[in-house]
Amino acid sequence: MMEELLQKWLMHANRRPKLLIADDQPVNIRVLYELFRHECDVFMATSGAQAVQVAQTELPDLILLDVVMDDLDGHEVCRLLKSDPLTADVPVIFITAQDREDDEVKAFGLGAVDFLSKPINPVVTKARVRTHLTLKLQGDLLRANALLDGLTGVANRRKFDEDLLADWRHCAREAAPLALLMVDVDYFKRYNDQYGHQAGDACLKSVAKALVESLRRPYDKVARYGGEEFACLLPKTDLAGAHLIAQRMLEQVRALGIEHLPSCIDANVTISVGVASMLASREGASTATLLKAADDALYEAKRAGRARVACAPSA
Ligand code: GH3
Ligand code: MG
Ligand code: MG
Repeated sequence: MMEELLQKWLMHANRRPKLLIADDQPVNIRVLYELFRHECDVFMATSGAQAVQVAQTELPDLILLDVVMDDLDGHEVCRLLKSDPLTADVPVIFITAQDREDDEVKAFGLGAVDFLSKPINPVVTKARVRTHLTLKLQGDLLRANALLDGLTGVANRRKFDEDLLADWRHCAREAAPLALLMVDVDYFKRYNDQYGHQAGDACLKSVAKALVESLRRPYDKVARYGGEEFACLLPKTDLAGAHLIAQRMLEQVRALGIEHLPSCIDANVTISVGVASMLASREGASTATLLKAADDALYEAKRAGRARVACAPSA
């Protein structure tokens, strides 16, 4: 049964589930480790503080949490995890020797998904872990789908809004610039009118792929901003670096060689790109300022004749 679960994880998530076991008695950890080491990547913590730290760095898919521990007890650990947006959604199962009903009530009150009593029964424990790992995978898949654009497979607008804020905060902490590219297909209305909406859809798919292939760093990302407009986030990238990527995007899209006869500027489909880069830590700057700057630059690229890159004046 566990093997079946593992297959599911490997197929849909491309990895094994991560299980964190926190208990101050190493012998208890060993029992659980033996139970799950074949199906899960098992992480261990022997104190409450360590459990919190490992949870934050590894983002496990499920935590088996002992209630009675010397430093931080399991309840306190759970409270900390639930109050941090990063770890709030990680499911927690309490394991404890106390099996009084009010302990169980308290566990659920803290946001635990389940409760196991010591000494643990291996069959019951496996079944419960399996159930919660299945639910976790289903939740992850639903969430991932809800954040993808159905046509092109890149991030959708909702995901972009989340990423923009996260990247902005991250760059602000590091006093690094965040670059934003706004990309728009040139004369796309004419393309649809000439070749039909289905060809238009296929064209958008190809353009999205060309944009993705223009990126180099693992944290660079493309999103469909709306219609025939895409937005790219390039953390820790200055204006010169972002301009280079934008230029590469222009070339990659041109290299697709998608015929666009009614375009009056080129025989093939082209894009215009507006580039902005800003120090996220700058006084008075916000994600809205960055968006506006990239948008203005895109407008300028269009006005200046399309099929080109325009940069926002560097601030
Ligand atoms: P410009 O060079 O100024 O950007 O001109 P444009 O024609 O590209 O701009 P406009 O905003 O006038 O038209 C955008 C067109 O994109 C209109 C709309 O029908 C088309 N479009 C938007 N989303 C989709 C889509 O998902 N599929 C298809 N096939 N077309 C789309
Ligand atoms: Mg357009
Ligand atoms: Mg447009």
